[in-house]
Amino acid sequence: MTEPPRSLPLVLAEPRGRRKPPRHLADLSAAERTELVGGLGLPGFRARQLSTHYFSRLVDDPAEMTDLPAADREQLVAGLLPALMTPLRVLEADRGATRKTLWRLFDGALVESVLMRYPDRVTMCVSSQAGCGMACPFCATGQGGLQRNLSTAEIVEQVVAGARALARGEVAGGTGRVSNVVFMGMGEPLANYKAVIGAVRRLTDKAPDGLGMSARGITVSTVGLAPRIRQLADEGIPVTLALSLHAPDDELRDELVPINNRFKVAEAVEAAWEYARRTKRRVSIEYAMMRGINDQGWRADLLADLLTSYGADSDDRRGRWGWVHVNLIPLNPTPGTKWTASDPRDEREFVRRLEARGIPTTVRDTRGREIDGACGQLAAAE
Ligand code: SAH
Repeated sequence: MTEPPRSLPLVLAEPRGRRKPPRHLADLSAAERTELVGGLGLPGFRARQLSTHYFSRLVDDPAEMTDLPAADREQLVAGLLPALMTPLRVLEADRGATRKTLWRLFDGALVESVLMRYPDRVTMCVSSQAGCGMACPFCATGQGGLQRNLSTAEIVEQVVAGARALARGEVAGGTGRVSNVVFMGMGEPLANYKAVIGAVRRLTDKAPDGLGMSARGITVSTVGLAPRIRQLADEGIPVTLALSLHAPDDELRDELVPINNRFKVAEAVEAAWEYARRTKRRVSIEYAMMRGINDQGWRADLLADLLTSYGADSDDRRGRWGWVHVNLIPLNPTPGTKWTASDPRDEREFVRRLEARGIPTTVRDTRGREIDGACGQLAAAE
C-alpha cells in the first residue's frame, strides 16, 4: 500500500541564510573525494591515503600523515579535513563506561554525543540536528526548537571521535571499537534525511572509504515521518528502525509527539510494519513510560492490539508479531516539567501485558542519569 508522497511540514524545512559547515572528506563518497583531489591538482590516490588516515587509522594530527609529502599534506588537510567540532565538556558515568561529550560546532551550535560501553559492544549515540523541531514536551531538546541540520561529516565525526578515544585506550575497559550507532541524540534524523543517509553510508562503506560497520548495528530513531520511513526502506541499507510511539492512541500521542497531528498512529505504525516487511529487520517501538500519562494497563492492551493487527496475514515466519519489539524507556525527567517516570509496579504490569500477547518487550537501562543522560540536557544547560 503506497500513498502519494506528501509535502513535508514547514518545521522540516532547513533554516535559510546560514553559513554551511565546512566541506569535509566524510561528506563525500570515495569517487567524489578522488575527483576533488584531482581538482586540487594532486594525484587521485592521495584521496585514498587521506581516507585511510581518517577512517582506518583514526589519525587527527596531520604530522602523523607521513606518507603524504608535506606540501600536499597541508593542501589536503585544509581542503578535506577541516576541524568540525571542539569538545566543550566530557562527562563520565558508570566508572567511565559511559562518556558524554558536549561539542561546539563551527558556528557555535552545541550538540551532544554519548559513548556507552557494554561487555559485548560499544554504542555511540549521535545527534543529527542542533536542536529539534519536533517539540515533544517531555524531551529536553524539543523545548529549544531547531537551530540547524548537521552535515554528514558532523554526524560521522561524532562516531569517529568515539572510535579514536576507544582506539587510544582513553575509555575504561581498554582499547576497543564502535560496534553500534544509534541516532537517538539531539534531533529528528528523518527531518535531516539526506545528511543522515550520507552518514549511514560513510559508517557502512568498507574501509578505507568509510568505517566498515554493519548496517545491522545502526539504529535510526524517528517520531514517525511516514513518507521518510518508506524512503528509508528504498535505500537498500537495512538499518534498524526505531519508532518513538509513546502512546497507542491519537488523542494522547497528539500531545506527546506533536507531529502526530500530521502523521497519525496508524500511519506511522503502518510505515514501520512495511519497513519490517521489506527489510526483514525487526522494528523497535520506543515507549517512554510516564507516570499516570501513558502507563495504564489498558494502554498496554491497546498497544498490543495495535501491534498485533499487523503481520498476521504474512507467510513470513517472523511476520506474525516477530516483526516488532517494544522497548520501554523509563522517563528521564527534565528539570521543571510535570513528566515523571512510572512506578516500577506499573512498568512491570505493562511489560507483563505486552508479553502475554506475545510481543517481545525490554526495558531500557538508564545509563548516565547522573550526567544528564537525557538527550539535550547538557546543551540546554550551557
Ligand atoms: N527524534 C528521534 C530521536 C530522538 S531521541 C525520535 O524521536 O525518535 C531518542 C528517544 O528518546 C526517542 O524515543 C525520544 O522520544 C526519547 N526521549 C526524549 N526525551 C526523553 C526523556 N526525557 N526520557 C526518556 N526518553 C526520552
